[in-house]
This record gives sequence, C-alpha cells and structure tokens, in this order.
Amino acid sequence: MFGFADIAIVKYTHPVEETQTVMTYVIAEPCINTKDTACVDACPVDCIHPKKDDPKYATETLLYIDPVECIDCGACVPVCPVSAIFALDDLPEKWNEFTAKNAAYFGR
Ligand code: SF4
Ligand code: SF4
Repeated sequence: MFGFADIAIVKYTHPVEETQTVMTYVIAEPCINTKDTACVDACPVDCIHPKKDDPKYATETLLYIDPVECIDCGACVPVCPVSAIFALDDLPEKWNEFTAKNAAYFGR
C-alpha cells in the first residue's frame, strides 16, 4: 500500500511519464542551416534528430529535440556554436513557434 512518501518518490523519479506534454529543451531559429550536430553527440539519451546518417537530415533545415525523451539535463546547450538551444522557460518569445515545431517532428 502506498503512503504519501511513496507517491512523492514516484513523481520525482518518473518526470517524463508525469509531464508527457511538456517540452523541456527546444532548438530554435539559429540552428537553421547550421545543423552541425554538435548537440547530437552531447545528448546522453539520443533524443536530438535527425542525425547526419538519417535521410531526413538533408531535407530538414534544423534539428529537433524530442520533448518526451529529453531528460532536461542541459548538456546540449553549451556545445551549440550558435546558441540555438533553450530551456522552455528561457526560449525568446519571438521563437515560441519552435516549441511546436520540435514536438511535431516526433509526432508529439
Ligand atoms: S549544436 Fe546547435 S546548430 Fe548544431 S545542430 Fe545542434 S542546435 Fe543546431
Ligand atoms: S537537455 Fe539533455 S536530454 Fe535534452 S536534448 Fe539536451 S542533452 Fe539531450
């Protein structure tokens, strides 16, 4: 039987399941036509796509972060040469549309 403390622990250790519709980090406009994939190599959970060996890499103008798989670690932010990656709370308002664009690439 769960007590209050047990429920609190479950919520803390499974943030992805608890926040399926919340975008954590977002790739925005500066990535367009840069897409050097430095962030792909930095991501510990492989949630940034398309990669260079993906056929979609040639046709997409930027890369995207999967909002469900992203663990909100921030490791991709400092490696981006054009400062294109933002925590959702830090995303400049002028690039708000990129939240939906990132999610849409993964059918979220
Ligand atoms: S590191 Fe920055 S510019 Fe390079 S692919 Fe990732 S988001 Fe785009
Ligand atoms: S915040 Fe972490 S998990 Fe999310 S895309 Fe960046 S490196 Fe990957």
